[in-house]
Amino acid sequence: MQQFIRQPSEEEWDQFSIYARRMRSLSPTPLNAVFPSQIALELLNARFSGCCMLPNLREIRWNAYKERHAALVLPLTVSPFLTVFNLWLVDTSHAQVVASSLAPAYDSLRSIVISWNDSEIVQEFSTLLLKCNPNQLRDFGVDSPLSWTAFLHASQLPNLRYFVIQADAAIPPSGASLPTTMFPSLRYLDIRGIDTDSTWLQSLKRIYPGNLGGLILEFKHATAVKKTLPVTLAHLRSTALHQTLAELTIDLRGGYCPSFEVDGTTIEPLLSLNQLTTLVISFVCGQGKCGHKISDEDLEKLVKAMPKLRFLALGAKLCSVPTNNPVKDLVAIAKHCKHLKKLTIHTNVEAIINSFSDRGDFLVEDPTFGGPALGGCPLRSIIFNPCPIPNGVQGVKIFASTLLRLFPHLAEATSTCPVSPEWKLVGAFITALRLALVTGESGSFVSRMKFADGDGVADADTEVD
Ligand SMILES: [Zn+2]
Repeated sequence: MQQFIRQPSEEEWDQFSIYARRMRSLSPTPLNAVFPSQIALELLNARFSGCCMLPNLREIRWNAYKERHAALVLPLTVSPFLTVFNLWLVDTSHAQVVASSLAPAYDSLRSIVISWNDSEIVQEFSTLLLKCNPNQLRDFGVDSPLSWTAFLHASQLPNLRYFVIQADAAIPPSGASLPTTMFPSLRYLDIRGIDTDSTWLQSLKRIYPGNLGGLILEFKHATAVKKTLPVTLAHLRSTALHQTLAELTIDLRGGYCPSFEVDGTTIEPLLSLNQLTTLVISFVCGQGKCGHKISDEDLEKLVKAMPKLRFLALGAKLCSVPTNNPVKDLVAIAKHCKHLKKLTIHTNVEAIINSFSDRGDFLVEDPTFGGPALGGCPLRSIIFNPCPIPNGVQGVKIFASTLLRLFPHLAEATSTCPVSPEWKLVGAFITALRLALVTGESGSFVSRMKFADGDGVADADTEVD
């Protein structure tokens, strides 16, 4: 059995306390965490039982995904001044310990965000919510259902800005009525587990209008998205959502959903949200079925309706199934998105390359690209689906230079399949071509399409192996 060679001296404990009193923030990361062993924890427990080891701690931000003893450390560390508690813990058997360890900080806590790997600890977290100082609490996002009483309490908190609710858990008991106005200060709402019969969603109408800036809607299955998304957004309309909402994520529980397809009907209810800066439609393709069914026309409608977009993601884990029409979707984005910085999208690289490879002048004012009006999209990074890039280095060159023609500020184009050497080469070409554009001479785009190789500057048409 492990044991210390000797016990720490009183002087050493005094030294420890000097450092411990200075600590304001505890945020170990997997790289820098030197995690105490079981015997060290026992020693600390014996020394600090009944008092606080880190008496001035204000913040705990901890992704304790791999830390077996995280729940043992928390009761030692929570101080009466703790304001921020942000924990990611995989082992749900510690949920009670985590909830009760926060007791010393009931009066000071402003932000409680706890992520689990599926937890159903209703009682402890409802109690936690009810006991916290109602005027202090700003964020409450615990990945677990709450009791009806706790939900009602949350809905009346004067300063609550961020809230996570499980749609299943917000079903009023018979005879219960809702307050006329709910969530007077709410800015970010995250609703999880939405089903087709989540009638509670009607109560969203009572959210105080003019505040909601961010919304995450997590649906149980594909049918729930199609049926309930328009209804949910319609209920939220009375909160002036279309004037205030900047960030929207539509998520499918568990990611992979074989019947989920994002198409024209999915995006139709989103078109009135013209203040969006972030739109994420998160789905996972799989088993030969692709969820991306957005036509070029629908995509153009979408980006036209949301001129402020800075981040657009259509898919979470993309498949290699190519889309129907090459380039048109990217042209629509290049034309209409004057603020976009990051994009995740399916494309059809092979068709792009094939349509341009038989023309030497594919980069000169081509009507496909919409003429000289292009160039105003500040896009920096694209993630594509892991489709193969045909025609070796020539294909890579055509693809990379087409992307730069559309998005002159592009710094990074990757695929969700990082092992492909062609995709790595696309990144290298984009870097080299951009460098040449910055340092190169003026003139037609083709004449500026030069990149540096080992011997200096070479023309873009030169083969590089
Ligand atoms: Zn796909």
